Amino acid sequence: MTYKKDAQDYLVHTYNQFPIVVERGEGAYLYDTEGRKYLDFVAGYAVSSLGYNNKELNEALKTQVDELLHISNLYYSKPVGKAAKELARVSGMDRVFFTNSGGEAVEGALKAARRYAYTKGNGRYEFIAMQHSFHGRSMGAVAVTGHDAYRAPFEPLMQGVKFAELNDLDSVKALVSDKTCAIIFEPVQGEGGIVPATREFIEGVRAICDENDILMIMDEVQCGMGRTGNMFCWHEYGIRPDIMTMAKAIGSGVPVGAFGITDKVAEFSLKPGDHGTTYGGGPLACTAVAKTVEIMERDGIVANAAKVGAYLEQKLDEFIASHDCAVSRRGKGLMQALQLNIPAGLVIGKALENGLLLINAGPEAIRFIPPLIITEAQVDEMIEILSKSV
Ligand SMILES: *Cc1c(COP(=O)(O)O)cnc(C)c1O
Repeated sequence: MTYKKDAQDYLVHTYNQFPIVVERGEGAYLYDTEGRKYLDFVAGYAVSSLGYNNKELNEALKTQVDELLHISNLYYSKPVGKAAKELARVSGMDRVFFTNSGGEAVEGALKAARRYAYTKGNGRYEFIAMQHSFHGRSMGAVAVTGHDAYRAPFEPLMQGVKFAELNDLDSVKALVSDKTCAIIFEPVQGEGGIVPATREFIEGVRAICDENDILMIMDEVQCGMGRTGNMFCWHEYGIRPDIMTMAKAIGSGVPVGAFGITDKVAEFSLKPGDHGTTYGGGPLACTAVAKTVEIMERDGIVANAAKVGAYLEQKLDEFIASHDCAVSRRGKGLMQALQLNIPAGLVIGKALENGLLLINAGPEAIRFIPPLIITEAQVDEMIEILSKSV
């Protein structure tokens, strides 16, 4: 496997990678260079929601490549106008700013919050973030990420961040002060182990924010864009954030992220010259966003995520009932975790050998984040391979 050796020799060694070389994908399956087929319950970290090799998306991208690839944000283009309008509509936010990644969307969200407080002159600059959260790898994103392993090697980080516990409203209240600028959390913690925020928590944070002119930032980079069975997770609760970050699935594999803000935030926040990105919101990425929205709505992908997500829940619960190594399940829609009492890595390694791609959600939990086009039959196929692998 010479490609693998080359990669190992010339890449900065930052990833713990699986020992396969992937060549192509089709629907919910990946194929390696040795022709082996894998059922994919990872979807490139919840990115490839439409599955691999979606011909319609590919054609739209090819057409855009021939028309216009990059112009920077000095000028408007049709794809950016369309993508902004569509993403604002389906996200429920009033305005969007396009980035190249989730981490960059989080950076922009933090800046938008600070800029809001700056205009108001209210002296608020602190962020309250959550333990076990994950918001990305850039310095600002790491500063609000509640994992010591991601933080310690890079300190000192941005000052003014305090950590509360997700679903513990009192722990948030204890940190709120006249310096609090924004509260940031994931409606479903992804890297933290697939832990949904409760309705009480979300409503409670909203109330704290409303009472104090604090901004509520929801990071929907992993849970957004259909994954939980709603287009965005907050739609289920009807509690709108002031700022929301998106990325992963919004471009179906083309690198793109965004943060959305409400008109209330826009009035006081970022002004021309305050923030920017050379590549963000380029014609190619925006074509991917608009096409993804179009396909998802037309083909009922979100409804499929809800339906097959419920089926996955049922099958995982049955798995728990019939396997001593499986303890519990948690999650929403097609974002689930199975808690084991054995190392997840062992099971994931066996599953790989048996043609199933999985990742963990903590040392003893397996994460299930398949493409949103997954079928009930493919859930059955997954459960069968999983049973063989434990
Ligand atoms: C993946 C992720 C990020 C970071 O996104 P990148 O595109 O890797 O920078 C941020 N927030 C959440 C919730 C994520 O899951």
